[in-house]
Amino acid sequence: MAILSSGDSNQGPSSSRAKSRVVDGALTQEEKSSSEDGLRPQRLDEYIGQAELKQILNIAVKAAIERGEALDHVLLYGPPGLGKTTMALVLAEELGVKCRVTSAPALERPRDIVGLLVNLQPRELLFIDEIHRLTRVAEELLYPALEDRRLDINVGKGSTARMRSLRLNPFTLVGATTKAGSLSSPLRDRFGLIQRLEFYGLDDLQKIVQRASGFMGLVLTNDASNEIARRCRGTPRIANRLLRRVRDVSIVRGKNTVIDEHLVDEALSLHSVDRIGLDASDRRFLKLLLESYNGGPVGLETIAAALGDDPNTIESVVEPFLLQLGFIQRTSRGRVVTNLGRSHLGWPDKK
Ligand code: ADP
Repeated sequence: MAILSSGDSNQGPSSSRAKSRVVDGALTQEEKSSSEDGLRPQRLDEYIGQAELKQILNIAVKAAIERGEALDHVLLYGPPGLGKTTMALVLAEELGVKCRVTSAPALERPRDIVGLLVNLQPRELLFIDEIHRLTRVAEELLYPALEDRRLDINVGKGSTARMRSLRLNPFTLVGATTKAGSLSSPLRDRFGLIQRLEFYGLDDLQKIVQRASGFMGLVLTNDASNEIARRCRGTPRIANRLLRRVRDVSIVRGKNTVIDEHLVDEALSLHSVDRIGLDASDRRFLKLLLESYNGGPVGLETIAAALGDDPNTIESVVEPFLLQLGFIQRTSRGRVVTNLGRSHLGWPDKK
């Protein structure tokens, strides 16, 4: 299967200040240019976890093959690094077709999306990352393409301008987004399958770490892979990244035989990643609320100003994991640290 990549992807809000965080789910420059592709599972049965998603897509793929038709359009949503791009590539492999990979910010001019659509061969996949960032014009070109395999384009100018319709080959759009709520409803309605990716459980993460360590030529004890699984925020991309940082320390220490949990702890402590995957940014956030505001509620703008960060980054990068852990709550009056969050930082419960 060939992957035809167009444009720059994964330039979400998290790419600004939080770029250097080892526990940020977004793709880093190192991962873009290096080994990420080698670690991706290629077939459904190699794709670890997400049992329900796999079951649904497996049936849809088999039915599409049986009917000799293109797979219905698929929307995958969930936080970065959970395997949306990987799933699109797996689907193409299962269908035996090519996957063209792009992202919404690379489709700014109408001709970008027109060029992609007219060149699609029968039943090929078009993967658009960050699909909530499509321009209005691009979206409107997509509607008839998704529904009737038709592209309506304006040719000529002024009084000679007219609309021409082009027939497209049957194709499948796989859209990915971290913000399903930001998708316009006409666009969302055109996807036949809308699936959420969940954070991974410990067992699955451990399998992902073991699999990736095999590709990197590393040997980890069971406790070592378990330690990485516990500290990677339920996210395969972070698990793989932590494993690379562990590999660095193991090479420098000259202990590149068997990696145990002490070595993992040493490597991850170096990057200030604690036992449950919180890093310095998370702790700064929690400490600000606790030390300056007695645990909240505090408005997002106030937090952003105090931390010198932008509200968008805090909302999309720092808060989701803290919310998922139940360490903070978003209330109408602002953010509040829960008793769980307080106790993780050694603070007494709030009465
Ligand atoms: P997303 O598109 O959701 O940001 P990706 O598909 O790029 O995430 O996945 C990030 C990395 O995590 C991939 O390179 C792959 O190595 C790994 N990964 C993701 N999902 C899985 C999985 N289910 N099994 C094994 N590895 C996975």
